[in-house]
Amino acid sequence: MTRREFGTSFSIFLSSFLLKDFDAFSASQYLTNQNLMGLEKPFLCGTHYKLIPEVFDAFEEMKKAASADGLRLWCSSGYRSFKSQKQVWNDKYKKIKNEFPSYSSQDIINCVIEYSSIPGTSRHHWGTDLDIVDAFGYENSNPLSHKNYDAGGEYQYLSYWLTENAAKYGFYKVYTNENLRSGFKFEPWHYSYKKLSKPFLNQFLEINILNTNGLSTCFGYEKFTENFISEYKQKYILGINPELL
Ligand SMILES: [Zn+2]
Repeated sequence: MTRREFGTSFSIFLSSFLLKDFDAFSASQYLTNQNLMGLEKPFLCGTHYKLIPEVFDAFEEMKKAASADGLRLWCSSGYRSFKSQKQVWNDKYKKIKNEFPSYSSQDIINCVIEYSSIPGTSRHHWGTDLDIVDAFGYENSNPLSHKNYDAGGEYQYLSYWLTENAAKYGFYKVYTNENLRSGFKFEPWHYSYKKLSKPFLNQFLEINILNTNGLSTCFGYEKFTENFISEYKQKYILGINPELL
């Protein structure tokens, strides 16, 4: 563990250690609702990418094992704040709007949510989820592309190794390639640390997303009705690998 960055309160700092020492400690007390929505930074570890301490340590262990097998695992995206998710969302929204001027705002939203979460609802806000690439190929202009992870692609072996070994270190693929899964498209790079993200998901489901501070500054906000959000929760937030439910 290298540099540490203090996020919000001492109680979060304290609970991170309690959780490590006592499995019985309720993980739902680890992050506040504001943390889960990316509005307040939790206690994080890391320099180039940031994860909550237990997840950071588990990823370090997995990196060591992968390195012995000739792979240099790298996290291209770990913790993300509401602000950075909003940047991702608004940039994609603008790009699609420019490319397809005849699209309605609903059409644009439907395109953006193929891969990107509504700000405040990203699992990257939790510090438990990360996008994994191979550091050897990280110069690649678009590392998070299916063709890299498919058979014959640059990350073919990485993809195989993660599928075989990630669970040993507590990490599970979230957006799997199962036909029956709804929501976000298949993401062979996105993994989640189950021990913490499962209770975080349960806690997150209790939050009324429509009350998220700053949500009204996201493009397409006028379409975020109660019905739309409830369907989004069902199809997208819960449309994940059943191991993580
Ligand atoms: Zn991701």
